[in-house]
Amino acid sequence: MEIRRRYLAEGAQSKLRPDHKQAEQAAPEMPSVVERMKHAAGAGTRVVHALANGEEIVVEADEVERRRQICEVCEWWKAEAYLGAGGCAHADCGCTGLKAWLATERCPVGKWGGNEE
Ligand code: SF4
Repeated sequence: MEIRRRYLAEGAQSKLRPDHKQAEQAAPEMPSVVERMKHAAGAGTRVVHALANGEEIVVEADEVERRRQICEVCEWWKAEAYLGAGGCAHADCGCTGLKAWLATERCPVGKWGGNEE
C-alpha cells in the first residue's frame, strides 16, 4: 500500500515538474505525412531539373558533414524521427538527413545550402 501511494505521488509530481513541461515544448512535431510527401516531391523535381541541366545533384562529403553538424544542434532537429535516424521538424521541411547530401536543397531557415543568413 505504501509503495502504491508513493508511486502515485511521484507520478503526479513528475507531471507537474517544470522540466517535464519544457521537454514537451522543446520537442517539435514533424509536419504531416501529406506535407512531407509534398516537400519530398518538390525535392525530387529539383533533382530531375538539375540532372536535365547537367548540374551537380550531390555535395562533397565535407559539406554533408558540415550540414549534419548544423542540423544536429538545431532547434528544429528531431533526433527520434524516422526510427531514430532523425529529421527536420520545420513546417517547410520534414526531411530526413539524406537532404544534407543534395546540392539542390536548402535549409528552410537559412542555416545551410547557399541561403545562409
Ligand atoms: S534543415 Fe535547417 S531547420 Fe531543419 S534541422 Fe537542419 S538546420 Fe534546422
